[in-house]
Amino acid sequence: MIKDFEHFAPKTLKEALALLAKYGDDCKVICGGQSLLILMRQGLVSPKYMVDIKGLDELNYIKDGKDGLKIGATTTHRTIEKSAVIKRKYPVLAEMEKRLASIQTRNWGTIGGNVCHGDPAADPAPVFMVLDATLTVAGAKGSRSIPIDKFCLDYFEVALEPGELLTEIKLPVPPPHTGTVYTKFNIIESDLATASVAVSLTLGSGDGVCQDIRIALGAVAPTAIRAKKAEKVLKGKKITEALLAEAGEAAAKETEPISDIAASEEYRRELVRVLVPRMTREALARAKKA
Ligand SMILES: Cc1cc2nc3c(=O)[nH]c(=O)nc-3n(C[C@H](O)[C@H](O)[C@H](O)COP(=O)(O)OP(=O)(O)OC[C@H]3O[C@@H](n4cnc5c(N)ncnc54)[C@H](O)[C@@H]3O)c2cc1C
Repeated sequence: MIKDFEHFAPKTLKEALALLAKYGDDCKVICGGQSLLILMRQGLVSPKYMVDIKGLDELNYIKDGKDGLKIGATTTHRTIEKSAVIKRKYPVLAEMEKRLASIQTRNWGTIGGNVCHGDPAADPAPVFMVLDATLTVAGAKGSRSIPIDKFCLDYFEVALEPGELLTEIKLPVPPPHTGTVYTKFNIIESDLATASVAVSLTLGSGDGVCQDIRIALGAVAPTAIRAKKAEKVLKGKKITEALLAEAGEAAAKETEPISDIAASEEYRRELVRVLVPRMTREALARAKKA
């Protein structure tokens, strides 16, 4: 049962930050409530005060510019999935969103809420890692930027200080000849990943050499992680089947999976071993056409 709490619905970011500063540890931010309400119903979180930021229209936007894409924290998953500019310039984001939860959850849940919830099996974090995202957080003392891989700290733990809010996610313009892909393996369609893999691969102009590669994994460690040893296997080389197999092996060794109701530790490692080569092949095919 959810315990009683006092609900505030600020209309501006300034007002929201003032409420967070005033009520401190007794206070919790709520946006779409798709993750938080589950924890509250289970009695795991029982705040005295709730600052509801769903109505903060100033954080609800998708802006495309010369220096990349900016997504406001209260933007819903469904808005990202449907965005014409995202489908054209960052198609992997729309593809990822299409497989995140159900339409009902995507209509209400927000990208900021997802990232701040810190679920290691969530879909956006691995994709943001390969897209080199930077997060902007704001607090009473001002704002600061954090790269996504420094934001995810541990199971359901992120680098927000008390009184801070995530306000924006920034993505740089991908370099030319870059292909980016994401997939998750899950038992129930539209559910969280059992294991997930995102790959962004950039080819050198005309020589077919993998100039740069980012590989990120979800649901196989306490947070989404970069598979840096696997990246090293492929970076600066022409991709071959033997190298792909080596990269899959290296990525599997970089994981720290748990066994749970969805899969054993070893099954999750095997998924990574299989999905890393498969998704790298797909990223390569996209990079050749980009
Ligand atoms: C049935 C179901 C299926 C799901 N399937 C998937 C799935 O397949 N893949 C997936 O990735 N997710 C899935 N989810 C999770 C869910 O979609 C996201 O976590 C959700 O989008 C969170 O957004 P929200 O706005 O609802 O956050 P809330 O639930 O309101 O908040 C989540 C957490 O983030 C904090 N928070 C929210 N916004 C901010 C902010 N701007 N700044 C600081 N802190 C903030 C809150 O205090 C809370 O701790 C599923 C959820 C449900 C209910």
